[in-house]
Amino acid sequence: MQVTLLAHTPEPERVVAAAARLCYSPASAAELKENISDEEIGNLLKIILRSGHLSTCEHPSFTFGIDGISRTCSHQLVRHRLASYSQQSQRYVRYSAPEIIVPPTVAADENLSKQFKESTLAAFDRYMEFLEGGVAPEDARYLLPQAVATKIVVTMNARELLHFFSLRTCDRAQWEIRAMAEEMLKKVYPLAPRIFKKSGPACIRGRCPEGKFYCGHPRKMTDDGLIIIPEKEWVHR
Ligand SMILES: Cc1cc2nc3c(=O)[nH]c(=O)nc-3n(C[C@H](O)[C@H](O)[C@H](O)COP(=O)(O)OP(=O)(O)OC[C@H]3O[C@@H](n4cnc5c(N)ncnc54)[C@H](O)[C@@H]3O)c2cc1C
Repeated sequence: MQVTLLAHTPEPERVVAAAARLCYSPASAAELKENISDEEIGNLLKIILRSGHLSTCEHPSFTFGIDGISRTCSHQLVRHRLASYSQQSQRYVRYSAPEIIVPPTVAADENLSKQFKESTLAAFDRYMEFLEGGVAPEDARYLLPQAVATKIVVTMNARELLHFFSLRTCDRAQWEIRAMAEEMLKKVYPLAPRIFKKSGPACIRGRCPEGKFYCGHPRKMTDDGLIIIPEKEWVHR
């Protein structure tokens, strides 16, 4: 999996703080953005994040290019509705060689790994036969497994990212989207550390809301934007 930050709003924290100050100031947004001090930005961000008045966090946006995730993962990603997506089409792109995502639990077992490879390759071979027999890619693709790799561009604003990280970096999320969300967080954290300081699973901010599904390992955030399990040190799954 490769996660690349393609573009982002410049000075995201300054933009959020200027938008927040504008609500209570006669000055223009441009003046506020120019003149607001770094200390004031920090104070405003603290208030916004503590109070949950997050609409000002909708102004800065972040665009990611994500390569080499499974269709299983991309299907979960696009359930997040407050985002924009462009995904490699299986109608217009014919696969010439299979790129298959193998779950780590399968990869760790030689026998399962072999079976997985055989099944996915068999499906892929049949897909190729259909294409060669004249079936359109949009129909032949029904044969492709969910493990097939895809590429997607996604844009989310900071508010949606906070929500996305809360759900998808949690232990309850599936391993692949969790790994992807952690990579995305690592990319945006240095650009807006005060916005993303307490992002990540809900346990970073307080009580776990998952009830009986609580994993028992409250996370912490390092100054580099890494989510850690303190008693186990950094665990990357
Ligand atoms: C651990 C886990 C397990 C899951 N299991 C399943 C499953 O078994 N089956 C399944 O179908 N899905 C499942 N999902 C997906 C989940 O139900 C959501 O579709 C997905 O996480 C997107 O979250 P969301 O709707 O909160 O956020 P987004 O779509 O990102 O929206 C952000 C927020 O905007 C608001 N919002 C957006 N659209 C509306 C709207 N139409 N009306 C009102 N408010 C809106 C909500 O407050 C929402 O939280 C799972 C997700 C997780 C994290």
